[in-house]
Amino acid sequence: MTDLNTAITSRRDDLIQLTQDLIRIPTLNPPGENYRAICEFLDKRLRGAGFETQLIRAHGTPGDSAKYPRWNIIARRDGAHCGDCVHFNSHTDVVDVGLGWTRDPFGGELDDGKIYGRGACDMKGGLAASIIAAEAFIQTHPNFSGAIEISGTADEESGGYGGVAYLAEHGHFSPDKVQHVIIPEPLNKDRVCLGHRGGWWAEIETFGEIAHGSMPFLGDCAVRHMSAVIDKFETDLYPAMAARRTDMPVVPEGARSSTMNINSIHGGQAEQLADSTALPSHCVPDSCRIVIDRRFLVEEPLEDVKREVEGLLEDLKSDRPKFNYALRDLNHVLPSMTDKQAPVVQTVAKAIENVLGKPAQFVASPGTYDQKHIDRIGKLKNCIAYGPGILELAHKPDEWIGVDDMIDSAKVMGKALQTLLTDTP
Ligand SMILES: [Zn+2]
Repeated sequence: MTDLNTAITSRRDDLIQLTQDLIRIPTLNPPGENYRAICEFLDKRLRGAGFETQLIRAHGTPGDSAKYPRWNIIARRDGAHCGDCVHFNSHTDVVDVGLGWTRDPFGGELDDGKIYGRGACDMKGGLAASIIAAEAFIQTHPNFSGAIEISGTADEESGGYGGVAYLAEHGHFSPDKVQHVIIPEPLNKDRVCLGHRGGWWAEIETFGEIAHGSMPFLGDCAVRHMSAVIDKFETDLYPAMAARRTDMPVVPEGARSSTMNINSIHGGQAEQLADSTALPSHCVPDSCRIVIDRRFLVEEPLEDVKREVEGLLEDLKSDRPKFNYALRDLNHVLPSMTDKQAPVVQTVAKAIENVLGKPAQFVASPGTYDQKHIDRIGKLKNCIAYGPGILELAHKPDEWIGVDDMIDSAKVMGKALQTLLTDTP
């Protein structure tokens, strides 16, 4: 009988084809296109490997409509005996293509051991690797115990509400059904990702008074008030955040502190369309808005994060004449960290050492991913991200995934299945 690694290596062409096929289904989010098509593709593939499948539409979730329905797939293959269920969860959506590509973003071109395309690394390559790992494991260990589940889920790139959050709310990640979760996000083949930082998104608006632009002293400029806000951030908030360090093993290094991005700024009259030849009218702006994206550490309570920003705005209100503001919460995600001693962490770390011949690194992600929903809604704590691909390539032009890296990752995933679902240590 063939051994597991041979079974994986011999599927190399299949792995390449599968990755290319997945990339060639353009599942752009927004708007959330072709979710049904990719679920049907996965349905056919996984039924062929003996999985039972369910296609589940996340009715009523953000963006779900007749035109862009939020479809998900969960496939399950039960073993010959009772035992744990290992679940591989991959998101099927990809972000906007953007500019600067030299390859066809949906061509799945193979060149010099790399497959190119939007979503190649984040995360269709990881999805393909997990399918190959599961199929090779089932072939070589037909009497395995427990179960393997593979899901393809929508909308991770926009928060996961029409994907993993919906499935978790409907019991698909409850600890009595699923015991181990591996999310093949591109954290590199030798790293176990334990969790992620938190995020808080809010809109700040400053107010002024509209007046003729030739007599600004008769009005009150909301943009100047906003510049005082940003100045306050520069002098007080940014240095304070940079000084805070986390014990979370976040990569890259720069994300081991608290960070904040100013997503957008808008003040005064709406920008004119690019093809407009009209000239602007002359007004003092009475409103200016920014959206902030504040990423926080497991050591920082969300309440403190919010209070810090509020405190600075309140300081301005008492110090700066006519300053007034509104702070609107948009959304938040709490940090998630799986215990380093958790079974899935230890199993995958040992599998990395076994396959790659070097110790695994333990990392945490700067941005959030679907682990938050499995943790908070599903109450399932035994969850990691592990998958092939270089994190820094995600969302970039000419995104690619290395075929050798996918093969190595598939071997690690297969080895983890062997440890968790058979008597082989
Ligand atoms: Zn991703």
